[in-house]
Order: sequence, then C-alpha cells, then structure tokens
Amino acid sequence: MSWSCGVPHGTLWKTASTPPTRPRAPTRAERFALSLSLGDWVRRDFVWDISTLVLVRTEDWHATWVSWRENGEWWGWYVNFQRPMIRIPTGIQTMDLMLDIVVAPDRRWRWKDEDEFEALVSQGIIDNDEACRVRREAADVIRQLDANLAPFNHPWHSWRPNPDWGLPHLPSGWDCLT
Ligand SMILES: [Mg+2]
Repeated sequence: MSWSCGVPHGTLWKTASTPPTRPRAPTRAERFALSLSLGDWVRRDFVWDISTLVLVRTEDWHATWVSWRENGEWWGWYVNFQRPMIRIPTGIQTMDLMLDIVVAPDRRWRWKDEDEFEALVSQGIIDNDEACRVRREAADVIRQLDANLAPFNHPWHSWRPNPDWGLPHLPSGWDCLT
C-alpha cells in the first residue's frame, strides 16, 4: 500500500525538544540521544517552512519528500529514513531514524544527519539490526535514484494540492500514541 500526505508551507507542527528542567546539550545529535534515552522530551510548536508532498509505502523504511518553494521553484527530494508507518486511530505513526539523503533537482545527492544516526546507534536506541536495515534501505534508494526508478522518474514536483483543502491540523487525541 502507498500513502501520501501533504505538508504545506505554514502548517503548524510539533517536534521534540529538551525539557526546561535540564541544560540543552550543544549538538542536535546529543540532544536527540539524551532525550530518547531519558524519555523526557517536551513538544514545541513550529511552523513548516517549505511545501512538501510525502510519498511512502507501508513496507518501506523511508519516506520520499518532494518540496517546492513559495515561488513554485522545485527544492528537490528529501529521503527520510524511518520505521515503517503503521495506522493508529488518530492517524499514522512512525519513528524518524535520523539519517536522510538530500537530492537536488539535478540529482546530485548528499547524506544528511549521519552524526545523529550514529549517535543513536552508539547509544543503543537504534540497535545493530535496525541500523543494518537502514543502511541497506539507503543503498537501495541510491540505486533507484541512479536507475531513474519510482518515485524519481515521476514529475511529482509539478503536483499541487487542491487550494480548497487549506492547511492540515492535528485531530483531537493526536497525542494518544499506541
Ligand atoms: Mg534527519
């Protein structure tokens, strides 16, 4: 099964942050590792800055994002490695596994957040089996990109949401995770 969802510019979203009860670690990698080890993160509100279509298949350990700027210019692809998505009563659930690949419109690509991925592996938050699964998935994505296979062979950057849809918002009970 394939899913897609849209995150337009201006969407309110929440992300984990260091609680005010302890000092903020100097790097994002340390902050994520510490918050996940202690399980004490708090959620902060942010505003999504670049319109994004998220493409994902249920069995995949990654989602592929395609984003465009407010002037319509294609920003590129962003491959977000994550646990396979599952349905929950209030929506869909996954866990971001930190590692990403950023692909420019000209298809030049680079790794992103390898330090955060390695920090979670060294802390045992991502175990060795899961780390190997992510690395295999990343190698597969690079092969798909090089071979111009889906979704990289489709002009998803030309897709636009129905303007009547408006901005998505969190449903009631959004914080009741399974
Ligand atoms: Mg990341």
